[in-house]
Amino acid sequence: MTDSVTPAIFDGHNDVLLKLHRAGGLTASESFVTGRDGAIDLPTAQAGGFGGGFFAVYVPSPVDLDFKFEEMSKPRYDLPLPEPIDWEDAFPVVMAQAAILFDLEKRGALTVCRTAHEIESALADGRIAAIFHIEGAEAIDPDLHTLEVLYQAGLRSIGPVWSRETIFGHGVPFRYPSAPDTGDGLTDHGLRLVKRCNELGIMVDLSHLNEAGFWDVARHSTKPLVATHSNAHAICPHSRNLTDKQLAAIRESDGMVGLNFAVAFLRDDGRMLADVPLAQMLKHLDHLIEHLGEDRVGFGSDYDGAVVPEELTSCAALPQLRQAMTKHGYDDALITKLCHKNWLRVLKKTWGT
Ligand SMILES: [Zn+2]
Repeated sequence: MTDSVTPAIFDGHNDVLLKLHRAGGLTASESFVTGRDGAIDLPTAQAGGFGGGFFAVYVPSPVDLDFKFEEMSKPRYDLPLPEPIDWEDAFPVVMAQAAILFDLEKRGALTVCRTAHEIESALADGRIAAIFHIEGAEAIDPDLHTLEVLYQAGLRSIGPVWSRETIFGHGVPFRYPSAPDTGDGLTDHGLRLVKRCNELGIMVDLSHLNEAGFWDVARHSTKPLVATHSNAHAICPHSRNLTDKQLAAIRESDGMVGLNFAVAFLRDDGRMLADVPLAQMLKHLDHLIEHLGEDRVGFGSDYDGAVVPEELTSCAALPQLRQAMTKHGYDDALITKLCHKNWLRVLKKTWGT
């Protein structure tokens, strides 16, 4: 049965660790427990039925955010790719954000999950289930020693790139309108990273990879293809979104896509303006379901990392999303799949049971 806070929404992407890192690191953890000015914390998660998801560890580029927002609100834009970040600079930031994740667990705010079964248990108990995810592999060395150690610490998902270049591959720039085909594919290091992730049971996230990199993963990965937070290019022709051809490959691999709430990837016109009705999200969901099937679509909010529709600015508003899906004619079984069942299915296939 669906009501206002169930089924729990388990979500493909959030950036709350970056926000807490910027707000003072470990000293800011307490605000996650008591309530903070942002999209995700414990009180809003409980109020809205946010069950958890992929908690991204991300090394920010020194970008001028005002400039980025200004540019991306225009009818067309093409932001330059930020400079690559060296391992020496990335590693301490990844350690600091991962430390916040484990601090949140110590405070009882969430549970860091290493298996699909642990996620199921957490959801059943009403605990936030968190996956340790790295968005952009700058902190991974070419010999993959850091990958081995981070896996032991709980890392279960990684994006080889954010929207910039790494030793593993190339990210798409923030560009509208644009195809995702913006350059070269994975490097040899990138192919080795995919292979080792397959062996260890670390999910490889395709969001932010350019199209050539996407096809390299599609050719070499032995696991379902997953884009944690991307939308339909047929509706919003942004470089960050997936073409119908890419969706067909994801379907073929039995993978999935998490619907990104970021308005720039939702709106037909690609502009970063927040007056987006929930109907626009349903338009993407309909398209994704049509091309992927009901078992291969979920959510990937980008909460605390993106400008999102004004009706949905925090976890506390998630009941409105459930309500909109019901009104749109989705039945309880489909809503449960979109909310968390599909993520569990894909993670079991990727990690093993
Ligand atoms: Zn992202």
